[in-house]
Amino acid sequence: MTSENGAPADRCRFLSSLGGVHHCPDPVYREGFCHFHFEAFLREEVLANGQLSERLTDQHRRRALNYHGIPLEPAPNHDPFHR
Ligand SMILES: [Zn+2]
Repeated sequence: MTSENGAPADRCRFLSSLGGVHHCPDPVYREGFCHFHFEAFLREEVLANGQLSERLTDQHRRRALNYHGIPLEPAPNHDPFHR
């Protein structure tokens, strides 16, 4: 009951501010957002247009939202907690 606008809504519509072209690849949970970004949307960290709110000033949180779903570089072959 969440896709009344008829748009194809199988992928999260969060749009990263990292160059402005990366879309979150996660499947939609609600309102066109994946579970992760939907919760951010509820907190008004993500706007209804799928972009980060400029009022969100927590850089760690912005990074977490921006990088969610982006495959990170291949992990180095050692345990970062064991050095
Ligand atoms: Zn998402």
